[in-house]
Amino acid sequence: PPTAAVQAPQHADLAALLPRPDRESDKYRRGVVGVLAGSERYPGAALLAVAGALHGGAGAVRYLGRPAEEVVRRHPEVLLTSGRVQSWVVGPGSGEDTPDALEIALAAEVPVLVDADGLTELARRGPGALAGRTAPTLLTPHAGEAARLLGGEVTADQVAAARLRYARELAARYGAVVLLKGSSTVVARPDGAVRVNPTGTGWLATAGSGDVLAGLAGALLAAGLPPFDAAPAAAYLHGLAGRLAAAGNRAPGSGVIGTVSDRGEAPITAQ
Ligand code: AMP
Ligand code: MG
Repeated sequence: PPTAAVQAPQHADLAALLPRPDRESDKYRRGVVGVLAGSERYPGAALLAVAGALHGGAGAVRYLGRPAEEVVRRHPEVLLTSGRVQSWVVGPGSGEDTPDALEIALAAEVPVLVDADGLTELARRGPGALAGRTAPTLLTPHAGEAARLLGGEVTADQVAAARLRYARELAARYGAVVLLKGSSTVVARPDGAVRVNPTGTGWLATAGSGDVLAGLAGALLAAGLPPFDAAPAAAYLHGLAGRLAAAGNRAPGSGVIGTVSDRGEAPITAQ
């Protein structure tokens, strides 16, 4: 694919995109995120996705997963009632509840982000499950989930070795924006446009970080960003946050932040 179609967002692009509250803001303008995540088996995924949405600037988070007690204990501002939602985040750790959760989310006429167990269920159902959608869908697979979404035609290693190609392939097949995670995170639109994240860092390679990204991107969707902006913006912030967190745990001058230039540049390699 031509390199010209590949963009790497920079600090200024991100600053222009990020929603900021103003005098007229209320929680609905900032955006209400619905989270369908977590299960008895993976309760932590719910906490992390909710935390990602709250830190992403959501006006409110509704949590409709189980178990809810720990979520509210950790995040007392979270709503447990059904009601208005401006984006859904479905799938992180949703375990056995996933089929119902995906059904609820996909039936809604608001942007839906599908991650983790939600992607496994979507792979089972195939692209037709998104056919009736009237609002955008954002898929956030890692290479293994992407391989499943492609029906097992390729392995996770093959996806990881040709990220641009398979992100575009998935976006076209599912008619959705696809954020393909990993050592170089790329975001593809069904028409083939691609954005490459320049802030990624191996410090993010830790259990639960994908759940945080899902919540963060969900908050940006709820604020009204189109998925092809929300996804790269979330990946960008996620990478910076990973670097800052790592730097906070290391000696000053260790160079953790210095590995991304002031202009947020990173080499782009066409695949
Ligand atoms: P998950 O696979 O859902 O747990 O998500 C892991 C998160 O960490 C994703 O946002 C990945 O892009 C990120 N990540 C994992 N490994 C790396 C790496 N080597 N370099 C940069 N980001 C990574
Ligand atoms: Mg994950």
